[in-house]
Amino acid sequence: MRGNRLNGRARASGRQDFRNWSGHVHAHPHTFARPTSVPELSGIVQTAANDGQRVRVVGAGHSFTPVAAGDDMMINLDRLSGLISADEATGRVRFHAGTRLRDIPSLLAPYGLALANQGDVNPQALAGAISTSTHGTGLGFTGFAGTVTGLSIMGPDGRERELSATSEPEVFDLARVSLGVLGVVTEIELQCVPSFDLIAEEIVVDFDELLTDLEPRMRAADHFEFYWFPHTGTALTKTNTRVAPGEAGPGHLAEAGVRNQLLNVFDKEVVENGALRLAVELGAAVPRLVPHINRIAQSAVSDRTYRAPGHDVFVTPRRVRFNEMEYALPFESGAEAIREIRDAIESRGWSISFPLEVRSAAHDDVPLSTAYGRETMYIAVHRFVKEDYAEYFRVVEQICRRHGGRPHWGKIHTLGAAELSDLYPRFDDFRELRRQLDPAAMFGNRFTDSLFGLG
Ligand SMILES: Cc1cc2nc3c(=O)[nH]c(=O)nc-3n(C[C@H](O)[C@H](O)[C@H](O)COP(=O)(O)OP(=O)(O)OC[C@H]3O[C@@H](n4cnc5c(N)ncnc54)[C@H](O)[C@@H]3O)c2cc1C
Repeated sequence: MRGNRLNGRARASGRQDFRNWSGHVHAHPHTFARPTSVPELSGIVQTAANDGQRVRVVGAGHSFTPVAAGDDMMINLDRLSGLISADEATGRVRFHAGTRLRDIPSLLAPYGLALANQGDVNPQALAGAISTSTHGTGLGFTGFAGTVTGLSIMGPDGRERELSATSEPEVFDLARVSLGVLGVVTEIELQCVPSFDLIAEEIVVDFDELLTDLEPRMRAADHFEFYWFPHTGTALTKTNTRVAPGEAGPGHLAEAGVRNQLLNVFDKEVVENGALRLAVELGAAVPRLVPHINRIAQSAVSDRTYRAPGHDVFVTPRRVRFNEMEYALPFESGAEAIREIRDAIESRGWSISFPLEVRSAAHDDVPLSTAYGRETMYIAVHRFVKEDYAEYFRVVEQICRRHGGRPHWGKIHTLGAAELSDLYPRFDDFRELRRQLDPAAMFGNRFTDSLFGLG
């Protein structure tokens, strides 16, 4: 299995250790099951229920917290993956829940369809991405969960319920982001869109000017994000414009060249990953060099414009391992919070080698989505795995919380049920549904218990 590291040989079922992508979370489940059919999965779930075991389903292990880790039974659905059905007229496509995001473009290609939006990596399982409210960027687009039109979910009795806006709509509504605590998601139907190209413009700009203009810039683009390397006065902006395949781009983008695939791989592998690895390793060994390294790294980045299929532009392999915290803020508070984070970094004398990443999303109606009911600006901070993130993340978390931020469900944070219930108007409805669907709280672990106020 790529993505997470499961020590020992892959077996259908047995003992296997689990480590998440960053290596920060370890688990030693009694049993690690990889069912190959729904009846087999159902038997595993019923056995666990009868034996009083707790169950965690794990996708690619790309969450930074122990949200997917379990001591009793862990289940992975890599062998329950692929496309089930596609309706070309409506764009609705049903997948097995274990399908990895990286496999979806080729599954959708025969239908001329694509995912509406994506984050910046693609090893995640579809169910894993949806369950933590994974998102990309763009004020005209929701995260993955906002595009879900149907779900099948298996409860402690091993039975699947089919959920949609017309089949158990109340349950469907709440189950779209569920952190695996309502049961095992076995199938997901998504609203897809006609396939598209992106014209990508990467431009280095003055950081202060960017913050002053942030809101209009984000509103003007289909997809806008930026990276700011602490200790520098500039930021790398990425603006992506959607165009139909074969259609010329608008205005100054009309001449954007189709990206040579090899050059793309070179930039993403050698420039973005190779150079970053060198910089962060050096920075971890000699922290006082970090400001100089960041300035050199930022000045070495040159502006570029290119065109490629959407999924190729959105995604960049991440080979340098880090830990991450990301908060979802009310859109209009974002720029101020970023200034406060910059001031905190400067005044505390920290050496931070990894950039801040800033993105946005449309508001949605998914009760546990981080963008529920409000346009959102996402602010993410990272630390190289060899460095201690505790103090940096604690201070950034305080700033984001003062602005009403909600933590990403798959990234590091310190909140528990009391704080989370203030941030999500329908938090108690979700807890009540959980009590109904899984009264023994079989689907969970100590970490999710602290999130939902159990035990
Ligand atoms: C390098 C990197 C880049 C990232 N980039 C982004 C990004 O651009 N945007 C963003 O929003 N996030 C991003 N993330 C976070 C990541 O998308 C989420 O943590 C996501 O949940 C990971 O998916 P996974 O398949 O690894 O799920 P896991 O981490 O394995 O599990 C996540 C949750 O889903 C549950 N789950 C998984 N499968 C099922 C199932 N079948 N039924 C029920 N519950 C299930 C698990 O129990 C757990 O609660 C990134 C993470 C990494 C490591």
